[in-house]
Amino acid sequence: MNTSELLQYDREHIWHPYTSTIDPLPVYPVKRAEGVYIELEDGRKLIDGMSSWWCEVHGYNHPVLNAAIEKQLKEMSHVMFGGFTHRPAVELAKKILSVAPRGMDKIFFCDSGSVAVEVAMKMALQYWYAAGKEKKKSFLTITRGYHGDTWNAMSVCDPLTGMHSIFQGCLPVQHFVDRPACRFGQPCREEDILPFQTCLETHAAEIAAVILEPIVQGAGGMWFYSADYLKQVRELCDRYGVLLICDEIATGFGRTGKLWAVEHAGISPDIMCIGKSITGGYMSFAATLATDKVATCICTENPYVFMHGPTFMGNPLACAVAGASVDLIMSYDLEKMIGGIERQLQEELAPAAAFPQVADVRVLGTIGVIETKEPVNMAVLQAKFVEEGIWVRPFGKLVYIMPPYIIRPHELSRLTQSLLKIVKEM
Ligand SMILES: *Cc1c(COP(=O)(O)O)cnc(C)c1O
Repeated sequence: MNTSELLQYDREHIWHPYTSTIDPLPVYPVKRAEGVYIELEDGRKLIDGMSSWWCEVHGYNHPVLNAAIEKQLKEMSHVMFGGFTHRPAVELAKKILSVAPRGMDKIFFCDSGSVAVEVAMKMALQYWYAAGKEKKKSFLTITRGYHGDTWNAMSVCDPLTGMHSIFQGCLPVQHFVDRPACRFGQPCREEDILPFQTCLETHAAEIAAVILEPIVQGAGGMWFYSADYLKQVRELCDRYGVLLICDEIATGFGRTGKLWAVEHAGISPDIMCIGKSITGGYMSFAATLATDKVATCICTENPYVFMHGPTFMGNPLACAVAGASVDLIMSYDLEKMIGGIERQLQEELAPAAAFPQVADVRVLGTIGVIETKEPVNMAVLQAKFVEEGIWVRPFGKLVYIMPPYIIRPHELSRLTQSLLKIVKEM
């Protein structure tokens, strides 16, 4: 197949994320990728501003990650996790649990982020079932969240942007309160936390857990909220006897400047989901972590087990590359590395705040967001970004970047300058 045949077949038969088969958005054929560069079939090289949706933190085609996966490939690619265990899984568990937020003691390997969220929600339900409080069956979350596209994960996504209207009547109905208006770095005022507190007070008897993305709401709105709010959420969950699930799938492994976003608030969840960058972007893989208290309660009552077990659970290739990725993360001086990118982003994106079409500019860790006043035309804007030699995929009113951690200052400058140029012309 030549490139145009390839694109033609793709257009006619392959579904891409959130696209039409009748009138699909354009796609760009990628030949290879290395470091922060994505090379198209026609030879053009784009600087990656997306880390392939939060994943590719060490850049593409990393020699250490390649070596880890090649070494494991020669031993075994897969073996079932029921009745077997293996070195890559045990070593990875030990690495993650030794640096996880305090209290995290058990780990469940999943095949994707959405599954990790399903698993977390099932854990919370099984916990209360075992504790004899079977009425605790629903979840409380904040609006504009994103937790994945599978059934229960979707039920706690933002009701407007999260497609609830299409699936009304079959999705479980959860409790929602408005996302906090208090920004990251600001204190949380009483009126900020009050709706959350009132909801817990009223419905604690039926709420199994609160689920939210700590500090950074990703795909639901790229919003950075007050660490103080999260701290109060933790306290209120304890006060009203509700579990706290923190979805660190996007924020984990350094993205916000701390290893875990919960560290900004100095809190620890009862259950935690990690994914995306866990394998350095090499394979679909994720995990759900829990405290000993949660795990023990689940397993001391009938059915005495946690009821989940995916076919590809603990896949050795994924565990091996994840282990190598975690080692790389821990070898970085994260504060210096992420802090440097954060300062550069703040400085270089700041001029956009003065553009008439821009509503807000915000930066946290390696995440830079330009919020526009009107929704952008993704296809048009994306084509312009590609012409400029950068890869950025905006949605709604959000033009944002979250480059690989290994991006160098001159590459980041090229990314931000091209971004500003296109947004200014918009
Ligand atoms: C991407 C994401 C998910 C879903 O992960 P998948 O691997 O796409 O299933 C869940 N929660 C958050 C916060 C995410 O960013």
